[in-house]
Amino acid sequence: MKNIRNMDVEWSYSGERGPEHWGTLCDWFAEGAAFPDQSPIRLSVDSINEKKLIGSDSITFHYKKEVFTEKEFKNTMHFVPPNTESFIVYADQTYHLTDIHFHTPAEHLLEEQEYPIEFHLVHMNDLGQNLVVGCLFNLTRDVNKFTELRTLVEGSIRTHEFYFDPSVFLPEKRSHFHYTGSLTTPPTKGPIPWFVFQEVGQMDRQLVESLKEGMLALNSRPLQDRKGRPVYLVE
Ligand SMILES: [Zn+2]
Repeated sequence: MKNIRNMDVEWSYSGERGPEHWGTLCDWFAEGAAFPDQSPIRLSVDSINEKKLIGSDSITFHYKKEVFTEKEFKNTMHFVPPNTESFIVYADQTYHLTDIHFHTPAEHLLEEQEYPIEFHLVHMNDLGQNLVVGCLFNLTRDVNKFTELRTLVEGSIRTHEFYFDPSVFLPEKRSHFHYTGSLTTPPTKGPIPWFVFQEVGQMDRQLVESLKEGMLALNSRPLQDRKGRPVYLVE
């Protein structure tokens, strides 16, 4: 089999190209699937290995208002910042924010609860290594901090380009689960450092509805086996 790029290989969330077959669709996907510690997993305070303190062994956010373009690929809608001005620092390394996208329903199971949506803030360092921050949300029709983003998205139908501060996705309380896993879309490669917030936010339902127009209703990968790997709670 030839090594075909991800963009060329069709995959889905059900049927013959569904999650259980991703690893067989091409060599590149097979390589990703061979990484043993896959994502998403169940996360709960009762099953953590250790608590760590924010600041000692965690991430710091250096997000700023910047331009994002709206693009559809990998079976979901993405906000891509062409200038990658926002970044985080983890283990003395800088990871630039390269992509924001979402899954419905949420992929990580939090305290045995499945939430309607999970946003992924995907970052990359100079070596091309990824780091993902996961933010879970309930949906609301009330006016909240995402109402402005919805107005921007709906107002940019032609340009598909708008300015916003990605910090809008971050919860007030920064406590989070941390573990090592994989990407949750093909190629499901690892190791990926994961950071999933404990606080569940409120997301504008109309924003999600307009982003999801014409897309798969379900785009979340089933839970993967934790296989005894350590999960930390950082607070
Ligand atoms: Zn994702």
